[in-house]
Amino acid sequence: AALGLKKLRIGMIPADGVGREVLPAAQRILEALGSRIPKPEFEHLDAGFEFFTRHGEALPQETVDAMQNDVDCALFGAVGSPTRKVTGYSSPIVALRKKLNLYANVRPVHSITGLDPRPVDLVIVRENTECLYIKQETLTTTEENGKEARATRLITERASKQIGRMAFRIALSRARAGHPAGLTIVHKSNVLSTTDGLFRESVLAAGKENPEWQDEGKIQVSEQIVDSMVYRLFREPEAFDVIVAPNLYGDILSDAAAAMVGSLGLVASVNAGDTFVMGEPVHGTAPDIAGLGIVNPIAAIRSAALMLHHLGYTGPAQDIERAVVEELREGIKTRDLGGKASTEEVVAAIEKRL
Ligand code: ATP
Ligand code: MG
Repeated sequence: AALGLKKLRIGMIPADGVGREVLPAAQRILEALGSRIPKPEFEHLDAGFEFFTRHGEALPQETVDAMQNDVDCALFGAVGSPTRKVTGYSSPIVALRKKLNLYANVRPVHSITGLDPRPVDLVIVRENTECLYIKQETLTTTEENGKEARATRLITERASKQIGRMAFRIALSRARAGHPAGLTIVHKSNVLSTTDGLFRESVLAAGKENPEWQDEGKIQVSEQIVDSMVYRLFREPEAFDVIVAPNLYGDILSDAAAAMVGSLGLVASVNAGDTFVMGEPVHGTAPDIAGLGIVNPIAAIRSAALMLHHLGYTGPAQDIERAVVEELREGIKTRDLGGKASTEEVVAAIEKRL
């Protein structure tokens, strides 16, 4: 969508913890692409828990304004989540997704031939705006149960169709001549027939909107109940291609899939809508290693590549991915992969390859 730009304005939100180490790494890799992409201009934007503790807000209006008006795309680092409820604090990443209508979280998970024991090459497309994560919880006390906590789960036709369309588009982009793409709809409609039933129906209905998606030769649609999905994901990950799921199931499946390819430090994602894309490594703030210069920057670097891919710069995105895979095959390893390489060594090596 952003093809043809003279320059590429990128909002950089490192936020907390290792986010501040991995975003500068991603920036260097984007710069190393040289003329393969429009000249990147990086705009630092504030957000996060640490910012909240100093300024009383986790997502300042200037950041939202800049994201809406000044930049073409963005990269997000990681945000600290307090384990206890902190009055006045709510996650800036959740707010950003909402304000920019980044309704999809797209997470490719693939193994590296020669390094990982099993072949995995799948993309999880997770609905990002509703389900249990609307955070409508109540706590009451009853005579019978003592405290009683309830959460509301919202599934809408609009959001489910929207994520369905995104999943079909991504599946189509992965279909090859003589090699159809697979699209698996994950739900639990055998138990939650109203909510998950609506999700399932809406995704299927979205697939009927475009004749290209309906063409059985290109996309093969199937369904999996979420529990058996987890089982099959571990037993035969190679059976899956594109997976579309409501927010909570998608969240859990994403981490499970990430566990099959070595480390959280390798897995990238984008938060995508129809008009904006924001790359975000899947890992969190990794407080145990923050500031030590040993965090694996590859998840963030791949998130930058994925962001480029979603903007239509598929060539440069592939260049980054190729450089990453070649370095990993060469054997460079940060601590999370069992090695001793520093963040700087990994960035420098990938930079050099590019
Ligand atoms: P948060 O609440 O922000 O998610 P966390 O304590 O759950 O923080 P994660 O970032 O989710 O931490 O990481 C979980 C574990 O994986 C930690 O031990 C962390 O050090 C390790 N880890 C995560 N990302 C990386 C990375 N990029 N490089 C190296 N180790 C990592
Ligand atoms: Mg975590």
